[in-house]
Amino acid sequence: MTKIIQAIRGMNDLLPDDVSLYQHVEAVLIKIFLNYGFSEIRTPIIECTPLFKRAIGEGTDIINKEMYNFHDRHSKEITLRPEGTAGCVRAGIEHGLLYNQEQRLWYMGPMFRYERPQKGRYRQFYQIGSEVFGLKGPDIDAEIIIMTARCWRLLGIDNHVRLELNSIGSIETRKNYHHTLVKMLKKNINILDNDSKRRIYSNPMRILDSKNPSIQALLDNIPPLVDYLDDASREHFSELCHLLDLADISYHVNQRLVRGLDYYNNTVFEWITNSLGSQGTICSGGRYDCLVKLLGGPDIPAVGCAIGLERLILLVGSVYPLLKTKKIVDIYLISSGQGTKHSMLTFSEHLRDQLPEFKIMNHFGGGNFSAQFSKANKLSARFVVALGENEIAHHQCIIKDLCNGIQKTISQCHAADTLRALLTNTLEEKYKI
Ligand code: ATP
Ligand code: MG
Repeated sequence: MTKIIQAIRGMNDLLPDDVSLYQHVEAVLIKIFLNYGFSEIRTPIIECTPLFKRAIGEGTDIINKEMYNFHDRHSKEITLRPEGTAGCVRAGIEHGLLYNQEQRLWYMGPMFRYERPQKGRYRQFYQIGSEVFGLKGPDIDAEIIIMTARCWRLLGIDNHVRLELNSIGSIETRKNYHHTLVKMLKKNINILDNDSKRRIYSNPMRILDSKNPSIQALLDNIPPLVDYLDDASREHFSELCHLLDLADISYHVNQRLVRGLDYYNNTVFEWITNSLGSQGTICSGGRYDCLVKLLGGPDIPAVGCAIGLERLILLVGSVYPLLKTKKIVDIYLISSGQGTKHSMLTFSEHLRDQLPEFKIMNHFGGGNFSAQFSKANKLSARFVVALGENEIAHHQCIIKDLCNGIQKTISQCHAADTLRALLTNTLEEKYKI
């Protein structure tokens, strides 16, 4: 027997039923990004390896363990992008988008990380993100957070997520803090787990958000990062908190929140849910004022965030299981009798002209009315439009609501308006919109 070839571990097919939920969520998010004046940018999935090494930082987990690196046919080192910011900055510099102007960009697409696949953690996953270039104040940090809060509100999951916020200070602050942190950690080296021992040399800041309770207990005895913050960072953070208070956004200041990428400074934040186990972060972001310059561009500040679509969709799907169900057919046309098939084809085209927003399907493959009605039920159609010889002779059609069984015969010229009114009501009930 021929062996079946399967997808690569951690890389998922999105089947039609999954895609409809993705499209729903993506449409809500994209509308919000546009509403805030962001423009879309699309960059390649593959970039030169040094771009990520320089941007994300050599000591990070992404660079050390998670990158998909290859050589192309000319032995050039290339990488499947593990995140979207580096490519976005590279493109902005290359095309002159970041010189003497502000820029608000959003992107969406697959990212790749060689991680251990589990619920909410995959080797190919989708991110939708937004980046603002050229603004240094806490007001834009606040607006990005407020915009993400709007995303959760419009998706109806605002009661299922919480915001964690921190300031990691300037790069200078972090250098000073590194020094203290490493000194203290080395004194307690016997308490550290293997991961943390490795991180002392590669990325000690990441030890702050270790999940290991004995390491957290050890950190209680080490001066916190906040003690090292410079005045400008302190001021930036307190103004950000003030703006979030004014916008009625609740947050928890988590002094041990750091990010897995080196390029952040000052503001860092995460939106977290308790509903997805340990993969609970659905969105993370912060400020990265040095990255554009580090990649050879102008010295301009930047701030952004990325939403992990799979995790967000797992959450939306668990709160609204109905959205996960099969994409329902709105109108299913059936016909029986001499010449009725042709009329059905013409009439369905008329309905599609009038009702472009609904899913309208014709029945093909024959059978009597009762067989055709059972096919409509199988497809979870909301309404059946039936055409027999008698209806066609009188320019009429029968509309049947498959939920309550009520049917009526109406003139064909009123059918589109009647169906629109009926469907709009049922959609409101179904999706609670
Ligand atoms: P984590 O701590 O969960 O590994 P991260 O800090 O590596 O996350 P970021 O690099 O900030 O994540 O990516 C932004 C968002 O992308 C995350 O908040 C998460 O929602 C999502 N994400 C990151 N890695 C994965 C993955 N392997 N599979 C699915 N989603 C992911
Ligand atoms: Mg990670």
